[in-house]
Amino acid sequence: MKKFFPAAAIICVLIIIGITSCERKKDKREKPAAGIECPEFSADSAFQYVKRQTDFGPRVPNTEAHANCAAFLVAELGRFCDTVEIERFDVKAYDGTVLHSQNIIGRFAPENERRIILASHWDSRPFADHDQNEANREKPIDGANDGASGVGVLLEVARQLAARNPKIGIDIIFFDAEDYGTPSSVDLPGDWWGLGSQHWARQAAATGYNAEFGILLDMVGASDATFYHESFSAYYANDIVSKVWGTANKLGYGQYFINESAHPITDDHLYVNKYANIKMIDIIHQDKKSGTGFPRVWHTLDDNISNIDKNTLSVVGTTLLAVIENL
Ligand SMILES: [Zn+2]
Repeated sequence: MKKFFPAAAIICVLIIIGITSCERKKDKREKPAAGIECPEFSADSAFQYVKRQTDFGPRVPNTEAHANCAAFLVAELGRFCDTVEIERFDVKAYDGTVLHSQNIIGRFAPENERRIILASHWDSRPFADHDQNEANREKPIDGANDGASGVGVLLEVARQLAARNPKIGIDIIFFDAEDYGTPSSVDLPGDWWGLGSQHWARQAAATGYNAEFGILLDMVGASDATFYHESFSAYYANDIVSKVWGTANKLGYGQYFINESAHPITDDHLYVNKYANIKMIDIIHQDKKSGTGFPRVWHTLDDNISNIDKNTLSVVGTTLLAVIENL
């Protein structure tokens, strides 16, 4: 994913800052409200799911690690979901490489017309173009946070959902080919990020698939992560932002889920909103103090398992389960 800068986006940010600034003074550490369901989520299990992915090595399309991890994800979803689908597609990257890609979709209660989507990208970036060390900038990254953390949380969510029989239909989507976008040294117009979600969203529109809303996770595993109201999320689905951030704050996670707006990010949720016309938000770690707007390890070789914090995985997973439980 990358930051999105055009003037229209800045106007959008200013409008949203206006909408949300009144919420800033809330106590960030308020206690869970009486009556909020606080389901169990195993941080240890989620962490193991992150590690299992990074143990394959960087999950870059057209590599053996990518194929092996796909098989693992299909098998794990198969243990918990009612059905698992693989959507295979070939797509051209910015440099002309044809990426043999697959979106992996696990469904709970596929017959239920009332549905929501939980999603994350499962591929990892083919080059560490933001690494401090220039010699590393063409090496692929483990993507423990950028990719594996969201998938790890969702696999543990799937394990919990299987045990509790959700009232609504839930589709867990692992998007491929999100992070093969142009390196920072290349300025090429075009939508080179989120290639898997672009493919999925166009298919969804063509086949009439629908869902009430979706929640995307991206970079949900760093210590002291900060999740703001990312501006595309607030623009397309502010009611869902309020629901999720409200739930997190009731659970006492206000230091993570902060009621402030932040830059729009070109990520998978943008294409689901635009092409499938399904409102989807992005829970994504944005760091307002860093030069890139993202956590320090973003698109570097330091994005590895040693920088994954179980507490953050737990905060995000518990929030998702509580949102589902309280729908
Ligand atoms: Zn990325």
